[in-house]
Amino acid sequence: MKILCVEIAKNYGYNEIKTPIFEHTDVFVRIGDDSDIVTKEMYTFLDKGNRSITLRPEGTAAVVRSYLENKLYAKTSPMKLFYFGPMFRYERPQAGRYREFHQFGVEVFGKSTPLLDCDVIISANQIFQELGIKNYHLKINTIGDNESRKLYSEKLVEYFEEHINHLCSDCKRRINKNPLRILDCKVDGNNPIIKNAPKIHDFLNQESKDYFSEVLSILDYYQVDYIVDENLVRGLDYYTDLVFEFIIESNDELDGLAFCGGGKYANLVESFGGMDIPGIGYAIGVERLLSIVDSQDGWNDKIENDIDVLIISLDKLSKLKALEIAYLLRLHNIPTEIDYEHYTMKHQFKLADKLNPKFLIIIGEEERKNNIVSIKDNETKVQETISQEKIISYLKGKLL
Ligand code: AMP
Repeated sequence: MKILCVEIAKNYGYNEIKTPIFEHTDVFVRIGDDSDIVTKEMYTFLDKGNRSITLRPEGTAAVVRSYLENKLYAKTSPMKLFYFGPMFRYERPQAGRYREFHQFGVEVFGKSTPLLDCDVIISANQIFQELGIKNYHLKINTIGDNESRKLYSEKLVEYFEEHINHLCSDCKRRINKNPLRILDCKVDGNNPIIKNAPKIHDFLNQESKDYFSEVLSILDYYQVDYIVDENLVRGLDYYTDLVFEFIIESNDELDGLAFCGGGKYANLVESFGGMDIPGIGYAIGVERLLSIVDSQDGWNDKIENDIDVLIISLDKLSKLKALEIAYLLRLHNIPTEIDYEHYTMKHQFKLADKLNPKFLIIIGEEERKNNIVSIKDNETKVQETISQEKIISYLKGKLL
């Protein structure tokens, strides 16, 4: 999974960034002091120096902090970064919701164009397509630029104040702090008061409308299906304009679960004390994605087939030779496995079935004595005999 995400990200021009597992609490508070993450879900504690430390609950805040501290904005624009690592949230554990989980995410800083936004969405979509995920959809919305959102927020405050008795206690608190977040209420997502609330699209200025429709038309052009969901605002306060989520449909407990969420953030870099630099990113929940692939029996060859060569050896001395050849192949970056224990073909072919390598190399007494090996293409089943010195050049030619 990680290999696939990283390969795809690299093909899109992203470089890896690694940030610490814990940081000063302030770093994460900036993602929104009214968000669920900050108010309820952070693992925060004092270290021996009485400093408030938090286990990272998400990736973006620390990446922004690092982007500024290391002056990455001076290097290139757009700056495209990806990360993969554990995140921690104090939530009630349940299907698809853990206290420690992993995210693969990307962040792009420095440019804001519909084409870039779509390229970011398309890169996530490519990961899901290559994993063979079925029955998912992309939900997308715009929450407008600052100007549009201000007008909209005022209208929402007015509306929700009229219906305050029908809101949960969290939402009552949100009315004046962040009324948009009420649309994303996790307590009662079907509350008709929330469903019938005024829609952002009636408050968008022309610029925001044009931007959003250009994004949609580029997605149409690339035949990426989407559903515009006007109630999608996403849980974090830093989003502006475009927000999106990938949702799975299934007939088990995973139904409706978001396995990737993202959006644009026009002001986040500035709120960390940086310049006016726009950003866009997404995070994929790795465990959720794994559960989805599991539940769809979707482990196709591309994912499982990480091993190029399995060496089968038929006696003790041949096993030593197998280890030597494996070492040589690995030196040449050819992923290779050997069976460390069995001498029978039957056992070793079982391993071959499991690993599904592209090639099998077979060494027995005769091959050893004649300095040759048998190489079998595991797909075409064609088997050839070649001298041991030629193994690398033979495989390199075939594995290109
Ligand atoms: P968020 O950072 O909340 O936008 O989440 C991005 C993605 O991370 C979600 O779509 C989920 O797939 C995943 N995720 C968030 N919280 C959890 C959790 N507690 N356990 C597992 N996955 C999570």
